[in-house]
Amino acid sequence: MSKIRILPDALASQVAAGEVVERPAAVVRELVENSLDAGARRIEVHVQRGGTALIKVIDDGSGMGREDALLCLERHATSKIQTKEDLAAILTYGFRGEALPSIASVSRFRLATRPADALTGTEVEVHGGKMMSVKDRGGAAGTEIEIRNLFFNVPARRKFLRTENTEYSHVEQQFRLHAIANPGVTFTLTRNGEVAYHLPATDSVLERIRGLTGDELADRLVPVPREEFLGITLSGYIGAPSVSRSTRQSQITYLNGRPIEAAALSYGLREGYHTTLMKGQHPVTFLFIEMDAHAYDVNVHPAKKEVRFHDGNRVREAVARAVREALTAARTVPTGHGPTARPPLDRATNPDESIRPAWQLRQETAVTAPSQTLLPISTRSSAPPPVERAPAAAPPPPAFRAEPAPLTAMPAAPALPPSASDDVAEGSEAETGPSAEDYRIMGVLNRLYVLMEGTEGLVIMDQHAAHERVMFEQMRRSMEQSGVPTQRLLMPLTLQLGPREADLLTRNLDALARLGIEAEAFGPNTFKIEALPTFIRTDDPLAWIDEVIEELRRMSSGASTLRLGEDMIATTVCRHAVKANDSLSIPELEALLRDLLACEMPYCCPHGRPTLIQISHGELERKFGRRAPH
Ligand code: ADP
Ligand code: MG
Repeated sequence: MSKIRILPDALASQVAAGEVVERPAAVVRELVENSLDAGARRIEVHVQRGGTALIKVIDDGSGMGREDALLCLERHATSKIQTKEDLAAILTYGFRGEALPSIASVSRFRLATRPADALTGTEVEVHGGKMMSVKDRGGAAGTEIEIRNLFFNVPARRKFLRTENTEYSHVEQQFRLHAIANPGVTFTLTRNGEVAYHLPATDSVLERIRGLTGDELADRLVPVPREEFLGITLSGYIGAPSVSRSTRQSQITYLNGRPIEAAALSYGLREGYHTTLMKGQHPVTFLFIEMDAHAYDVNVHPAKKEVRFHDGNRVREAVARAVREALTAARTVPTGHGPTARPPLDRATNPDESIRPAWQLRQETAVTAPSQTLLPISTRSSAPPPVERAPAAAPPPPAFRAEPAPLTAMPAAPALPPSASDDVAEGSEAETGPSAEDYRIMGVLNRLYVLMEGTEGLVIMDQHAAHERVMFEQMRRSMEQSGVPTQRLLMPLTLQLGPREADLLTRNLDALARLGIEAEAFGPNTFKIEALPTFIRTDDPLAWIDEVIEELRRMSSGASTLRLGEDMIATTVCRHAVKANDSLSIPELEALLRDLLACEMPYCCPHGRPTLIQISHGELERKFGRRAPH
């Protein structure tokens, strides 16, 4: 007798259940997705004991006739795809036809369903994969599915369930993911009989996010206007630069409405937020990606959580660009708590500001602002740097002093050039952020925190972080415009590498040259370093180059030279910037503030720490008990 046998269906379902249904939250996901696929306008999710005792999902969708109600419990029974071609471009949530039979094989399962045009509905009960009963039933049109005692017949899986709180928080996360992607559907979640969320249908994603996360986060989101990048349409909301989390839970991304995770997306977000997020922190995003369903494969993960893009680099690049543009366009001062007085969405709503040309506003600024700059940073008009990285019409002034000098004898601070765009403000984007005139410097706390009165309340500037940001953008601009000036070393350095690092370096010699590192192969796995960027000051240049190589290795293959350059600069400016305890005069502080506000990304330093924070009048009033906390 042969040893290979076809598994009995019930057993096969249990095996599949191990993949599809790892915990109650997965059941919630499958049921809610089925309800959405069935066109529901209202979905209720009820859980008890984190979903281990009970999960019930009620929808007002299409419902099923008796034949379908029985068929849907068969393995590989699906109404959603019919042909191989359908599989190549899946737009429904489900398609594997596995969820219901899998769930029913590991629980006490009850399905009650009725299509709107049928007089009677059907109720089916299945326990541990065994059909217990099929009967007629009245009730509302739509579908109600109840799952009791998940894994009651699979003790091995039951052991893996965590505490009620943990399981519930996973359920809540699933609920959130779908509620945000479908604001037009009314969603309710109850936990042990109490309403946790009731979210009426709305046409605004932001309203839906607000209903789920509260005002504090919703007010600190910036919009990603719907726009196409490289054939991929992006839209949604993302956290302002100061908003981040230590886990990836709030980094939510959708692909054609399906919540998904993909390395290409994470890379793209990282790159878009580059230098505005602290190390180890993750962004908060609600980002919707729409693209041709033939350009990726969702059928790579049993829970359909991950996708494989045919061209991951294009996706990464598109996401990075959308994020960067959104962050640059919506510049708001981070607040401690509470609603921002100047919500990013209202940016252009002040008619005065939107009617008057931007250059006119700026000219007035320039007249009233003190023109003295004593800081070792550039003197600049308050014109913001052009957002476009267009090559300057006239050759920009030499960026750095490129005299040959031994590494140890560099000037104390790099002499930075005046901005290349001192007098031409036209053509740059209308600036809607605050200007230096909106703030009055009151004093400096601890020789670090500059206290200022702003129109919305108290504004505090970290002078070190602010100076880092200003220098960072100046250096980056010079790098983009004229490349990085190098200085030849008096004595070339010899660099000995392992074969893999040597290979990496060989492939990136051109990129490095653009960044001011001139290296040349010199024997097997050995390189001669002839020149280094002028602004690098280090006692140990070889260790510094090791860091650069390490960074090269970390970057995904398609990452730009610009990004590597940004990293190099970011680590350098910290050492050059004014220090925490450097005491600066008021005109110096004013100049610093002006330069900061003229930056592309003024509200955080290149390491992602905030440069300015604001405590609003409202918050002060609450703190002093003049106004009830809301
Ligand atoms: P899939 O979603 O992959 O098709 P499922 O096992 O989740 O597989 O569901 C099987 C089928 O049952 C679906 O294709 C659909 O026709 C039907 N179905 C499941 N849930 C519902 C529901 N809430 N309303 C209407 N039809 C449903
Ligand atoms: Mg399904």
